[in-house]
Amino acid sequence: MDTQDVAYQKPESHITDFIEEQNNCCICGSQLELRHQINHYNLTVCEEARCLACGIRNRVRNYTVQ
Ligand SMILES: [Zn+2]
Repeated sequence: MDTQDVAYQKPESHITDFIEEQNNCCICGSQLELRHQINHYNLTVCEEARCLACGIRNRVRNYTVQ
């Protein structure tokens, strides 16, 4: 797993529109804690979704910003 430490920055609006519909846990339905890391060098966004109720990490995704 890439453990690169990138400072948190607010995602672009078109990115948040895309992810807002996927912000609930697929197991218990609780709202997920989403963290985003934007890499400005290769224009990608790493999204990590964690359910605080289940204590599991649901997914990690990488998006390309265009
Ligand atoms: Zn859950």
